[in-house]
Amino acid sequence: MYDVIIVGAGPAGLTSGIYARRANKKVLVLEANTYGGQIINTKSIENYPVNPGISGFDFATKLYNQAKDLGTEIKFEKVTDITENEVITTKETYKTKTIIIATGSDNRKLNLENEEQLTGKGISYCATCDGAFYKDKIVAVIGGGNTALEDAIYLSDIAKTVYLIHRRDTFKAEAILVGQLKQKENIKIVLNTTITKINGDNKLESINLLTNNETTKLNIDGLFIAVGQVPETENFKKLINTNEQGYIIAEEDCKTNIKNIFVAGDTRTKNLRQLVTATSDGAIAATEAIKYLSEIKE
Ligand SMILES: Cc1cc2nc3c(=O)[nH]c(=O)nc-3n(C[C@H](O)[C@H](O)[C@H](O)COP(=O)(O)OP(=O)(O)OC[C@H]3O[C@@H](n4cnc5c(N)ncnc54)[C@H](O)[C@@H]3O)c2cc1C
Repeated sequence: MYDVIIVGAGPAGLTSGIYARRANKKVLVLEANTYGGQIINTKSIENYPVNPGISGFDFATKLYNQAKDLGTEIKFEKVTDITENEVITTKETYKTKTIIIATGSDNRKLNLENEEQLTGKGISYCATCDGAFYKDKIVAVIGGGNTALEDAIYLSDIAKTVYLIHRRDTFKAEAILVGQLKQKENIKIVLNTTITKINGDNKLESINLLTNNETTKLNIDGLFIAVGQVPETENFKKLINTNEQGYIIAEEDCKTNIKNIFVAGDTRTKNLRQLVTATSDGAIAATEAIKYLSEIKE
């Protein structure tokens, strides 16, 4: 029987591990993929206090080692279901007194035909992971937020031409990024335009674009989709209350509708989804779990 099982080894989950272990609790972290969560592929983190410029990989590795060194048990198993006192993975069922859900979010899809089939064959959701494959090629980035602009700027140093395609007439990204974007001569900005079709059999060949009711075809080698994130909460909805977008409903105390189940990081309802708020939630959720454990002892 564990005191705390944490689902997800991203910044929120690993921070919960650190806090729970420092309170001497028996802790298990379960992770479906690799440790570190979304930040792992980011080239440089500039807004987390103390160490500007640290790579996402270094940040995640330091956090992972810190949690491990404190005695946090970490297993790489996907959680498929939970009950109030059990966490079920693809391999096993674990008993626990408390659960912290820290499953973050996944890339939002365009939901177009061929999207899944051509992922890895010209379509990518990670410019820093796959950008190097497109040296001197023609690529397109879809989106208008920080990630889309960062991707376009990053790719402009590798690819010959980068089309940045956005459905609105202004970007919602930070002004500093919009300024940097405009300095790049090989980025072509295409506004008020949506992507309607992805063409190619075994490899991406072109996309269809719709601007003011007019359809055009754009031949490209790579398509980078950066249209936001969706919370990873499908496996918990049976038991835990979520909002319309699927985020787990919780206030700053990270408490869910079930008294021994807490939520931390990007997967909960909140205004700012960043590292600093994810690690903050990790600390709060673990502290609430510890408080709950001390109460049930009496
Ligand atoms: C490209 C990019 C760049 C970014 N850059 C910055 C930045 O510079 N500064 C900043 O502050 N923020 C940045 N962010 C945001 C930041 O990465 C997130 O806010 C933060 O990672 C959220 O942490 P989290 O632990 O809540 O979730 P995540 O990082 O999403 O981690 C969740 C973890 O849970 C795992 N998981 C999911 N479902 C299951 C399951 N069923 N079973 C087991 N494990 C599961 C996932 O595999 C993942 O490892 C960036 C995000 C992206 C995508």
